[in-house]
Parts: sequence; structure tokens; C-alpha cells
Amino acid sequence: MASIFTKIITGEIPCYKIAENEHYFSFLDINPIAEGHTLVIPKKEVDYIFDLDNGSLEGLMVFAKKIARAIDTSLGTIRTGIIVEGLEVPHAHIHLIPIYFEGQAVSLGKKTEVDESRMKEIASLISKAVEL
Ligand code: AMP
Repeated sequence: MASIFTKIITGEIPCYKIAENEHYFSFLDINPIAEGHTLVIPKKEVDYIFDLDNGSLEGLMVFAKKIARAIDTSLGTIRTGIIVEGLEVPHAHIHLIPIYFEGQAVSLGKKTEVDESRMKEIASLISKAVEL
């Protein structure tokens, strides 16, 4: 059965899309730990990120870098952090976490409330700043 993230790529499940190219896709995490918390995924459905072949893993990281740059320029972060866990959704993904101030908690456990209109606004801001 297709993963929830594959269904997002194909449009079966809606998302706050940021960007995509031939091999990779990014969208806002629906349960963000900070405004602009973004997921970056390969279109190829592989569960464990370190089972990706070397070229796919390199490409995923380079794509994530472009999205992180867009987060930094559009949201006024001091930098963007990166977390890989993958225990909930069996489709490899990188969490990009905007960091707005020193000492900000960057941990997947702590969710923050972001309403739908703000999620749309953030997705638009980041996506306009992406240079693929
Ligand atoms: P993990 O597998 O623990 O690295 O985390 C999976 C992440 O996917 C969690 O942060 C969820 O909030 C996120 N997530 C699950 N379903 C969706 C969805 N439909 N749209 C966006 N993010 C999702």
C-alpha cells in the first residue's frame, strides 16, 4: 500500500506544498514544532533513509539545502535545523526546522499551534523563495 507521503505526492491527500522536482518533494509538516517546519522526501518510496542509494541520498540533501535556504530567506530565521527520525511514517523524510532564536527547543516532541491560514501563508512565503 502506498505511504501517506506517496499519496501526498500524487495529490490523493492534500498538503501545504513548498516545492518539487523530478525526484524530490517538500511540504509543511501538519504538526509543526515551529512555524515553517518542513518535510523533504524522495518521490521513490523507501522507508529507511539510509537504505536510499547514494545518489538519491545526495540528491535529497541537496534538495533539502535549497529548501532550507528558502526558509532562511523568507522567514527570518537565524538558521534551519535538520532532524531525521522516521519512526512514524515509513517513507524516508528530512525534517527542516526553522530556528528563530538561540535556545529555541528543536525537538520533535514539542508541537506548536499554527492555524490553516498561517500555514498557507508560510507555505507561500517559502515556496516563492525557493530556487531549484
Ligand atoms: P517521523 O516519522 O517521526 O520522522 O515524523 C513524521 C512526521 O510526519 C510527523 O512530524 C508528522 O506530523 C508528519 N505528518 C504525518 N502526516 C502528515 C501529513 N498528512 N501532512 C504533513 N505532515 C504529516
